Formats: sequence, C-alpha cells, structure tokens
Amino acid sequence: MLRKLVVGNWKMNGSLAQLAELSAIVEAARGRADVDVAVCPPATLIAHAAAQAGGLAIGAQDVHCNPHGAHTGCVSAAMLKEVGASLVIVGHSERRQDQRERDEEIRAKAEAALAAGLQTIVCVGESDPDRQAGRAVEVVTNQLLGSLPDSWSVGELVLAYEPIWAIGTGKVATPADVAEMHAAIRRNLAQRFGERGASIRILYGGSVKADNAAELFAVPDVDGALVGGASLSAAQFVPIIQAAG
Ligand code: PEP
Repeated sequence: MLRKLVVGNWKMNGSLAQLAELSAIVEAARGRADVDVAVCPPATLIAHAAAQAGGLAIGAQDVHCNPHGAHTGCVSAAMLKEVGASLVIVGHSERRQDQRERDEEIRAKAEAALAAGLQTIVCVGESDPDRQAGRAVEVVTNQLLGSLPDSWSVGELVLAYEPIWAIGTGKVATPADVAEMHAAIRRNLAQRFGERGASIRILYGGSVKADNAAELFAVPDVDGALVGGASLSAAQFVPIIQAAG
C-alpha cells in the first residue's frame, strides 16, 4: 500500500488572513507522520505559506511549460520553487474548461515541473455527459495517454482522478465507481510504465469531506485525496487528514 497523500487546493480563495487556517493544518500534519499533506494556495500566498509551513508541503495550482519569456501573467516552475513550492497541480478540470487547456499542454507543463524538481499532480476526470454515456473510463484513459509524461522519478508523479460532476457540487462518486476507475487507471499505468506504474499515487477528488473521507480512503488504489472546498478551513480539512492515517 502506498503512503497516503492529502492535498488541499484553495483555488482562487484565500488572503493573508486565511493563513491562520494554515497554522492549524500544519499542527495537525505534524501529528500524522504516516500521511503526506500539502496545501496549494493561490500563487500570491505561496511564499507566505511556505514561510510558516513547517514540514507541510506548499504547492501551486498551475505552471507554465517554459522556463521564462513573453508569457504575460504566467509563472515558471523555477519561479515557484524559488518562493518555496515543492509541488504543483496541472490539468485541473477548471483549467481544462476555463483556459481550454489540452492534454498536450498539460503534458508539457508536467514535464517542465518534473524537470525543475516539483512533485507534479496531473488531474484527469470525465464530465457528467461522458459518464451518462458510459464513456468515463475511455475519456480518462485518453487523458492519461495525452497528459502523462513518459519520464519521471518514483514519488514525483501523482495522479488525481476528479470526476468533473463531483467537483464543488457535493455529489461524490460512489465507492464502487471510484474503485472501478482507480483500478482502470492502475491497469493503464502498469501497461505504460510496467512495475514502476505501481508507485504512482492515485488521488480521488470531488467533494471529499470529513464524513465521506474514511469510506473513500478504504477503496483499493485510492492513495489519498485532492480536496477543494473542505481544505479552506482547518476544522474541515484536519479530519480528512486524520481519516487518511
Ligand atoms: C478540487 O478543487 O480539486 C476539488 C476536488 O474540489 P471540491 O473538493 O470542492 O469538490
């Protein structure tokens, strides 16, 4: 069994005042030596968060695929590292939708992040119409093929399965659906990467809360969670960390 990883994605939420929540999360994470915990605040807070994170990993929510240049509004992997980020999320469905990011671009971002030494979480997940049409596994398989880099070191590449219809909606995939998808992803990783595929942690994301976390963590091949809304408050996020242990 792989060590569980619980990642909070604050999205476009949070301010300097919000970092008070981080202190409580840092304390809880310190008490759980058996679980890896990370928080990805907005880019404006990364340096501040890293300064008070103790052993907690701080990450970014996106990265550009180039190291520098004429890309207004973007930040590179080296820039994120310099201010204290140790991981990054790429290909979140909100970016796939809002910024129309495609698999090839997400793969390029992942390659750049890994090359810079950032642990990289690649997100995949189907829409509700895809699931209703029975195409969920096919859609996710195609995203894996297009978004995952070929080259990575053990521990550095992480996958997050996040059904779009479950993100921020309060609707959670059933344990049976999560089990089916995570098993399909694991098979896919094994086919592509051989034995090394077993070392890639597969997180579930989509309305994970204190009251459903334990059930989700008990599903085979669920190696942690990517948590949005419930990661904004220590009161909601800490019980999820506890459930992972
Ligand atoms: C996410 O932002 O990746 C996410 C899963 O959000 P939520 O937990 O709010 O559904």
